[in-house]
Amino acid sequence: MTQPIRSTCPYCGTGCGVLLTPTENGLEVKGDPDHPANYGRLCSKGSALGETVGLGGRLLAPQVHGQESDWDTALQLVADKFAASIRDHGPDSVAFYLSGQLLTEDYYLANKLIKGYMGTANVDTNSRLCMASTVAGHKRAFGTDTVPQTYEDIESADLVVLVGSNLAWCHPVLYQRLIAAKAERGTKIVVIDPRRTATCDGADLHLPLEAGSDVALFNHLLAQIYEQGAVDAEFLAHVNGFDAALAAAFNSDLSVTKLDPDLVRQFCNLFLRTEKTVTIFSQGVNQSSAGADKVNAILNCHLATGRIGKPGCGPLSVTGQPNAMGGREVGGLANMLACHLDIENAQHRDAVQGFWQSPCMPQAAGLKAVDMFRAVGDGRIKALWIIHTNPAVSMPDASAVRDAIAGCDFVVVSDVTGQTDTARLADVLLPASAWAEKSGTVTNTDRTISRQRAVLPEPGFTRPDWAQLAEVGRRMGWEEAFTYASEADVFREYAALSAISGDLGKDFDISGLATLSDEAYDDLSPTRWPIADHKQGGRFFADGQFFHADGKAKMLAVTHRPPVARTGPRYPFRLNTGRVRDQWHTMTRTARSPRLSAHLAEPFVEINPTDARQLEIKANDLVQLKSPQGSAVMRARITDAVQTGALFAPIHWTGETAPAARICDTVAGEVDPVSGQPESKASVVSATRFQAA
Ligand code: SF4
Repeated sequence: MTQPIRSTCPYCGTGCGVLLTPTENGLEVKGDPDHPANYGRLCSKGSALGETVGLGGRLLAPQVHGQESDWDTALQLVADKFAASIRDHGPDSVAFYLSGQLLTEDYYLANKLIKGYMGTANVDTNSRLCMASTVAGHKRAFGTDTVPQTYEDIESADLVVLVGSNLAWCHPVLYQRLIAAKAERGTKIVVIDPRRTATCDGADLHLPLEAGSDVALFNHLLAQIYEQGAVDAEFLAHVNGFDAALAAAFNSDLSVTKLDPDLVRQFCNLFLRTEKTVTIFSQGVNQSSAGADKVNAILNCHLATGRIGKPGCGPLSVTGQPNAMGGREVGGLANMLACHLDIENAQHRDAVQGFWQSPCMPQAAGLKAVDMFRAVGDGRIKALWIIHTNPAVSMPDASAVRDAIAGCDFVVVSDVTGQTDTARLADVLLPASAWAEKSGTVTNTDRTISRQRAVLPEPGFTRPDWAQLAEVGRRMGWEEAFTYASEADVFREYAALSAISGDLGKDFDISGLATLSDEAYDDLSPTRWPIADHKQGGRFFADGQFFHADGKAKMLAVTHRPPVARTGPRYPFRLNTGRVRDQWHTMTRTARSPRLSAHLAEPFVEINPTDARQLEIKANDLVQLKSPQGSAVMRARITDAVQTGALFAPIHWTGETAPAARICDTVAGEVDPVSGQPESKASVVSATRFQAA
C-alpha cells in the first residue's frame, strides 16, 4: 500500500499537517496525527482539500498578450521589460506584489531579486492586508516582530481573550483545541468583537464593543491593572515606557466603546485575577487605521503584568494565511529585510548585501500595498509582477486597483489559473505549480516551520515560483546569484543568512538548518524556531530579555482614534468585511468543492432586524451597498449578530463567481499610518433594497 505523504494545509495560518495519498480521482486527505499544530484534526476546508486539486481552469502554459507561448519567450520578455524599465526610469519604476500563499523559498528569492539585484524595495504582499499592524506593534514593543506564544499555551491558559478574532471560522482547529481545553480544565473564554460570531458560542463573556474602540478598552484595563495592584513591579524592570502608557490609559474615555459597564467590570476582574491569560488577536485588531496602536494597547497589558512568554500566559497574534509568518521572516514587506532585519538600518542593509554580494540595495522602505497600487495607477510603476494573489478584487477600493493594473505598461501574473480578475489584466501569464505539486517550507502562527511536499505531478508546462524567479534573475545577468539546484538549495542559503539576525541582536536565527542535506531537508519534521535552544527551551521574553538595543521591552502611550471614515446621512452604515467558515480568499480553490460551497452558497450582507425594518428589507432580498468608492449587491441576512448601524459582508465572492458582489469595491483605502494596513473593517456605506432596472 502507498504510504501517505506528509504535507501542510495551504489555507489558514494554523498550519495543520496533512497526510496525502493520491487516488484515481485526486487526493485522499487526512489530518497528520503527529503534527504539533493539529494532532490529526482538520477543519471543513482542510478535509475538502482533495476536491480542489482538479485541472479544470488551470493555466498550463505561458501566455503572452493572450496567446499561448513558451517559457523561453515569456521569461525573456519579463527580464527584458523589467531591465528596460529600470534602465529608463530607475529601480523604483518596478514592483512585485506577493502573497502569503507563497512558500518560504519562493518568497525569499523574490525579495533577493528585487531588493538585492533590481535595487528597489517596492515589494509588498497581501499580508499587508492581514497582519502588518501586528508586525509594527511587535517591533515597537519588543524590538523585533516576535510572536512570543505557542499553541500549547492556549491549552495551558486559564483565560483566553479573543480580540477581533472569529477563531471558530477562521482558525477552526485552534478553536477546536481551545474548546477541548475548556472542556478539560474549564478555561474561561472572553470574546471582544462588535459582531456576535460563531466563536461567541463557546464564550463565557462577549463584549460587543463599538468598531475601532479597542484601544479605549485596553487602556481602561491597563488603568485597572494599576489601580488594583496587579502590576508586576519586578518584570517592569525590563520594560520602558510604563509611566507614559499609564498616563495615556488614565486619559482614555471608556464610553467610546459603548459597552455595558458591568460587562467591562466582569472582563477586567477575570483578566486581573487570572495569571495564566492568553490574548489571541487577529484581523479585527489589525485591519484598522489604528491597528498598530490596538496591538500595543493589548501588549501593554501583558507587559505591565509580566504575563508574556510563559506557559499559558501571553499575547498570541494569529495570522490569516498559510505562510504569512514565512513572509515576515524573509522580509516580504516593503519595509523589511530578510530574517527580521530592517531596511532602514544601514548596518542591517550592509550585512544582507554583503551576504548576497549583490550589486545594490535600496536605502529606504518601498511602497506598501495601497500606495503601490496608487503608484501603478499614476504611472510611477511601469512593470509589475503579481504572484499568487488577486488584488483586482481583494484590495480596498478594488475597482481603482483594476483600473491601475489595466493601465500599467507591463504586468506579469504568476498563478495556477488564468481566470482571476487580476490574471485577465496581465500581459504575461506564467503557469505556476499548485499546492499539491510543489515542495518547500511554510511557517505557521506559532513559528513552526513545516514542509510542504509535492504529491502530484506538475501538469502541462507549470513551474514552481522559485524557479520562475531564479530564471528571470539569470536572464537579467545575475547568473551566479540565481543558480540553484533545487528548493533545498534556496532554503540552505536562507538559513545561512539568518545567522546575521543573531549576530545583529535580532531573534530569527535558523542557521542550524543551513547544513541540511537534500535528504534531511526532505525529511524535515515540524520545527519551531529559535532552532538554537538559547531562549529557555525555545521561549522568548520570559527571561525579560527583549530585542531593543537596551534589551528592554517598550510600552507605548496610545490613545483612541476612531475609524477614518465617518458615518453620516449619506453613508449611515459601518461595514465590516471578513471570512466565512468554508471559503478561502477569492474562492479560486474552495469554490471547486460542492460541500464547501453548500455552507453559504451566495454572497450576503448581515443586517440588524431594526435597520432592515426601517429600510423595508426582508430576508433574502437583494441589497445594494454604496460607498464613496463603489457599490456591491448581495442577499440580505437579517440577524441581531450585527448591531444596529453595522453591516457585515464576506470578502470571497468576486468577478468570476459574482461580479456584482465584489465587496472590496466598497472598501475605502484608508490605512494605518504606522503599519500601512488598510482599514478593511470600518468603511461607510448606504444600504437599499435593490431593484434590477
Ligand atoms: Fe487548514 Fe486552517 Fe483548517 Fe487547519 S484550521 S485544516 S490549516 S484551514
